[in-house]
Amino acid sequence: MEHAETVGAVRSEFFDGYWRRSILCGRVEEVMAGAEVRVNGWVRRRRDLGGIIFIELWDYTGPVQVVFNPSAGAGDVHERAGDLRSEYCIAVRGRVSLRPEGTENPTIATGNVEIAADDFLLLSLSEPLPFEVGDATDRVEENLRLTYRYLDLRRERMQYNLRTRAKLYFFTRSYFANNGFVEIETPMLTKATPEGARDYLVPSRVNPGTFYALPQSPQIFKQILMVSGFDRYFQVAKCFRDEDLRADRQPEFTQVDVEMSYVTEDDVMALTEGYLKGLFREILDAAVPTPFPRMEYWDAIDLYGSDKPDLRVPMKLVDLGPVFAESGFEAFCEILKAGGVVRGLPLPGGALMSRKELLGVEEKAKKLGASGLAVFQVKEGDLKGPLVKFLSEDDQARLRQSAAIGDGDALFVMGDASRLKACTVLGTLRLELARAHGLINEKAWAFLWITRFPLFEWDEEEKRWTSVHHPFTSPVLEQLPLMESDPGRVAARAYDVVLNGSEVGGGSIRIHDPAVQARAFACLGIDPEEAKERFGFFLEALSYGTPPHGGIALGVDRLAMLLCGGQSLRDVMAFPKTQKAQCLLSQAPDAVEESRLAELRIRCLPVENPAARSNSSTPTPDQREGP
Ligand code: ASP
Repeated sequence: MEHAETVGAVRSEFFDGYWRRSILCGRVEEVMAGAEVRVNGWVRRRRDLGGIIFIELWDYTGPVQVVFNPSAGAGDVHERAGDLRSEYCIAVRGRVSLRPEGTENPTIATGNVEIAADDFLLLSLSEPLPFEVGDATDRVEENLRLTYRYLDLRRERMQYNLRTRAKLYFFTRSYFANNGFVEIETPMLTKATPEGARDYLVPSRVNPGTFYALPQSPQIFKQILMVSGFDRYFQVAKCFRDEDLRADRQPEFTQVDVEMSYVTEDDVMALTEGYLKGLFREILDAAVPTPFPRMEYWDAIDLYGSDKPDLRVPMKLVDLGPVFAESGFEAFCEILKAGGVVRGLPLPGGALMSRKELLGVEEKAKKLGASGLAVFQVKEGDLKGPLVKFLSEDDQARLRQSAAIGDGDALFVMGDASRLKACTVLGTLRLELARAHGLINEKAWAFLWITRFPLFEWDEEEKRWTSVHHPFTSPVLEQLPLMESDPGRVAARAYDVVLNGSEVGGGSIRIHDPAVQARAFACLGIDPEEAKERFGFFLEALSYGTPPHGGIALGVDRLAMLLCGGQSLRDVMAFPKTQKAQCLLSQAPDAVEESRLAELRIRCLPVENPAARSNSSTPTPDQREGP
């Protein structure tokens, strides 16, 4: 075949063994000097220096420099190389050589070598780019990145992220298989499984008027698999939750889903610790000490103001009730007398904060629901602050001692009728202040377990008890009698695993007795009729010799994000959705033709305010079809 004929044009039909890469770009090494190689990839940078053309050719292993010298190469290779533009896809044949002394580039793996091109084949042109693909930073506006996701994914960072995520899958499958787990897929088209969110519904054409739900989790099926004798099940499971998206949520996400029979909390926790320890060693070569510390839910709230405390932050909340109960500051005395709390947040180095900064913190506290925030600072040995005048010398000393504050520190104090509110407001400030004052140990991997969550919480809007986890979670056995008499006090056999202030997984020991399950439904206001209709098949399954069982689900997206040092879940998902649950690349969700709706026996009501529904350029059905 005469390859020189391909001059100037895209002639990818000539792509064959003559052009197919013999080596990946990033793998060209000094020891190969003199060897003939073929590389395939994208043109990144092109520089013309004194008649010599340099390009950076890139594939997923990184860049290599290719040199087109006017005096070398076949025919008009050098002239054609002058037409190469960013992201043209080419195949190059050439010879490896060492870069001349002084022109090495220590920032890349192939920085000591280059390929002197003999010839190249143009495989594809590229339109002018919407953004610089070779840019290592994330400066490009995210919606643009998402619209042209295929180009965004060519960036080194995204390549690294998705390849790291793939390693996570690989490790996960080998870990669980090596521990005797069976991977079983559960259906995507299924019946609702309550996990506290809305279901995505899929209309059934062959059963008109009925709907499948996409799974919020495989919860019911994995428990049924325990009834079936698959003692150790796992799945890398896609889950769907139709929620108003908060900053780091996605409508579809992935969990490592696990269930085991004949286990207690300790077994599930030990297995999970082994998994996470192995994963962090495998991917980051990081040593994570196990077992992880365990903390009960209310201790976490009291000490950190959060059920997912970030232990990289040194400050802990303190109970200042005993200090203020007898003090001269009446507002706090009254709160305490009425059964409320006064809690404090010390801030090392906080004495240097200006009045303006302190006011900013108070503002923030108020936004979070506090009626006020008191502040103390210790300056040159003296306690300062508007409330000092209400405190005796003795109280002041006790305050400093209880909060363990010394010279140079500050202390924020809040009183409230609700223990949960006081703690969570201070807990939020704890994180913000730690961030602002550089008090987070960024190098640490701080894992811990949170246990003994409440089983139920009161939903003020719906005026009923709801599950904190899901309705299949077992109560702590000795508290069973409280289920009817005092549901708010029942603790769950549930556990969350938290890493650096993010929940990365959660699970529980389940109810395996159908009678207890029926009682749990009753507490949740699900009457037997409704329970039968929604979960009858499951309750019946439980009645056929169900082993005690429990499990956990770990959030793959969040774990991958933390492992990659990403800022958002979108950074570790190939094709994520925006906060409006849209895919900017494919423009989903989309309107469908009337005829398709008709065969599903569905008619759409007009959308009152189409503008509010969409922020993308996707035409809404109304715009398409006229009023
Ligand atoms: N199904 C639960 C969830 O998705 C986890 C579990 O209890 O195993 O959060």
